[in-house]
Amino acid sequence: MSLSGTYDDQNIFAKILRGEAPAITLFEDDIAIAFMDIFPQSPGHCLVLPREQARNLLDLSPPTAAAAIQRVQTLAKAVETALQPDGIVVTQFNGAPAGQTVFHIHFHIIPCWENVPRGRHGAGQADMGELKTQAEKIRSALA
Ligand code: 5GP
Repeated sequence: MSLSGTYDDQNIFAKILRGEAPAITLFEDDIAIAFMDIFPQSPGHCLVLPREQARNLLDLSPPTAAAAIQRVQTLAKAVETALQPDGIVVTQFNGAPAGQTVFHIHFHIIPCWENVPRGRHGAGQADMGELKTQAEKIRSALA
């Protein structure tokens, strides 16, 4: 899908936002929801999704973009507290050529550890028990 186009409300993240598909949720409010990435590039890889129907950052309204980045920062701090990574990558892809695979705006928070290479983007599915354990730690750090 190119950068321009219409929003497809059947994408997997739209289904998660409507409660039609499951997710291991970290927090939610009127602006955004955050949950664990099930094909993580590292332990603790999680996502922040603004609720607004936008395919990418270019479509997102400026007030929601501003509110969303605050939530990204809050979650990144919680990940730092919970998992003690040596670094954190924050990424966001716009359009398939840029690496986007799900066409509802989202931000990745990917913890990194020294000398531990990150996995491939959207590769193997994680163990759900491990994801839940990581999520509990992150939720505790958010509390
Ligand atoms: P994108 O490539 O669009 O920036 O990122 C999409 C992300 O969504 C990928 O990191 C992928 O692992 C993740 N993902 C894809 N399908 C699902 C799903 O059904 N549930 C969750 N929690 N994450 C997903």
